[in-house]
Amino acid sequence: MQSLAQLFQQRQKNSTELSYNEYLKRQCDAMNQSVGDLSDYDCPECRNKGYVYRIRGNEVVARECECMPLRDSIRRIKKSGLEGMLDTCTFDTFDTDDDWQKTMKQTALNFLDDTEGNWFYTGGQVGCGKTHICTAIVGEFLRRGLASKYMVWSDEIVGIKANVTDESVYGRIMGKLKTIPVLYIDDLFKTATGTNPTAADVKIAFEIFNARYNDRKLITVISSERSIGDLLEIDEAVGSRIYQRTKKYCLCISKDRKKNYRMR
Ligand SMILES: [Zn+2]
Repeated sequence: MQSLAQLFQQRQKNSTELSYNEYLKRQCDAMNQSVGDLSDYDCPECRNKGYVYRIRGNEVVARECECMPLRDSIRRIKKSGLEGMLDTCTFDTFDTDDDWQKTMKQTALNFLDDTEGNWFYTGGQVGCGKTHICTAIVGEFLRRGLASKYMVWSDEIVGIKANVTDESVYGRIMGKLKTIPVLYIDDLFKTATGTNPTAADVKIAFEIFNARYNDRKLITVISSERSIGDLLEIDEAVGSRIYQRTKKYCLCISKDRKKNYRMR
């Protein structure tokens, strides 16, 4: 039996019909023109189908569009509850009435284009804009198309520990945290009771930070009520890695500053 390609080639010899290649091209173009129904982000490349078609040899093949990791990020952000914050917690809306706030914003802006080998850390009391500035940073990376993961430490650590004995689930969760291009850990080492993290918490933290420490391209944004000094006291291996990477971009808002901020 003749293949479709052979049939077309034969017919083309004695007619003015489309060559098989032209036929393929038209088919491919039509497929690329069709509009999909993916929401959250309007992609001109795949027209919200998630796939881009091209001709390979005698057939039309599909590849996943580059917008898919971004869509994943948006979905994750939505799921995490950060979504509503992405619109409100931007650099534009960050308060800069006080000098320390100006410093906070400028430090974050400088970090955006200096992430190789550097992490961003903001420590201090609740209410000094830590989450706002970290969200603004992650929002910018998302806009730049980087897949990002928002991790609320106290929530996620429970799920990770629950799966410690299930190798495949544990591996999948940890694999993502260790390799995602942008990881934002909110409220690192926060515990329900305000006590120090357990040995199991520290072990998981080490696994994540050590992997990210070893790949200078990975972007890590951390907020915590604890200072770097506190982290070093909790665990030197974890604390020293964070200290090393955040030397340039570490903001620990003291209680006095917070007081000023609140008294305004
Ligand atoms: Zn796309």
